[in-house]
Amino acid sequence: MQVCLPIESAFPKAKRSTQVQVVWASRIVTVGGDAPVRIQSMTNTDTVDAIGTAIQVKELAVAGSEMVRITVNTPEAAEAVPYVREQLDRMGIDVPLIGDFHYNGHRLLTDYPACAEALSKYRINPGNVGKGNKRDRQYGQMIDVAMRWNKPVRIGVNWGSLDQELLASLMDDNSARAAPWDARQVMYEALITSAIDSARRAEEMGMQRNKIILSCKVSGVQDLLSVYRELARRGDYALHLGLTEAGMGTKGTVASATALSILLQEGIGDTIRVSLTPQPGEARTQEVVVASEILQALGLRNFVPSVTACPGCGRTTSTTFQELAKQIDDFLRAQMPVWRLRYPGVEGLKVAVMGCIVNGPGESKHADIGISLPGSGEVPVAPVFIDGEKRLTLRGENISQEFQAIVENYIEKRFGTQPAVAEVA
Ligand code: SF4
Repeated sequence: MQVCLPIESAFPKAKRSTQVQVVWASRIVTVGGDAPVRIQSMTNTDTVDAIGTAIQVKELAVAGSEMVRITVNTPEAAEAVPYVREQLDRMGIDVPLIGDFHYNGHRLLTDYPACAEALSKYRINPGNVGKGNKRDRQYGQMIDVAMRWNKPVRIGVNWGSLDQELLASLMDDNSARAAPWDARQVMYEALITSAIDSARRAEEMGMQRNKIILSCKVSGVQDLLSVYRELARRGDYALHLGLTEAGMGTKGTVASATALSILLQEGIGDTIRVSLTPQPGEARTQEVVVASEILQALGLRNFVPSVTACPGCGRTTSTTFQELAKQIDDFLRAQMPVWRLRYPGVEGLKVAVMGCIVNGPGESKHADIGISLPGSGEVPVAPVFIDGEKRLTLRGENISQEFQAIVENYIEKRFGTQPAVAEVA
């Protein structure tokens, strides 16, 4: 007799990291512990251009970025940071700002206290804080400033700027081993050691563990998996996860989604950034869209109603089906900044837009609301399914607009229990 065992659920494992709070005014973004995996992004404006930077930060925040990092590389940039913050506050955008420091962070944070105060978190790269005997002193200065202003830090190691003295020392140790590791393993060890030793040094100086986030970024998927698994195994620091220099377009998106999904599924990673190179003319916010899609696809968070659409096939030879699917998807995304406030829970809505009767009615019944086109060469009628039942049939040229109105009406009835609140700035 064949024995059937229950199929094991494959939902992501729980995270086990220390929780860190990233704060601006009354906005508290919790990172780590049982907090949802947070999305962050980075501007590509010159921070000296405070208005341009504030506008891009706002765009990223409205797209769903819960923290935004800005470059602080010169005295002029450090001087501009409080003005960026002020512009955002005026626009009603309270997203925490993170300052990205390399080489001169110790000086900028010391010489520009208004910058240190306006930032909610400092990113420190241990490979870029100075060489020789300056290294510890300059790193210590940054930790001191963070403790003085009660700010968390991210100790962000990157294999492109790895501490070369540490790497050389580990290479020497390795060559003395009876069975030396390969060079890649030594590099992994250098990344992890740099992050953890720097964190321990900050703790020895008095910084609480709940003020420290770690990252060890590399640009290869398999390298990232190896490094983060080991980093998570060696401690309970909150982890910032990202594939550095992921690249452009499809390549960058797929590589980031692959690497981040595997680790998130294993319960590794508390905040993510997708480092996409924008294609010419592409919005910077695309990295936030991809990050949200990764979390939503894994079932970790919901940001926008999900649209289930079939790929189309020989039964949908006209463009009608693709146009309908795109129009519905665009419509839902465009409404979300307002719907998110007006209709709590709407982001969990499931919509289906299907091409023909083969899978259309079935998939539409699984969704909260679905429409199924008839396929090509058939009479243009589109049954609409609501809560698993066929309710009406749309015909003619305005199927998309009519379906959008039905969706909006459904949302109002199901999620519209709250009075409308102030719309986003
Ligand atoms: S639902 Fe119909 S149109 Fe869509 S892929 Fe399946 S068979 Fe093709």
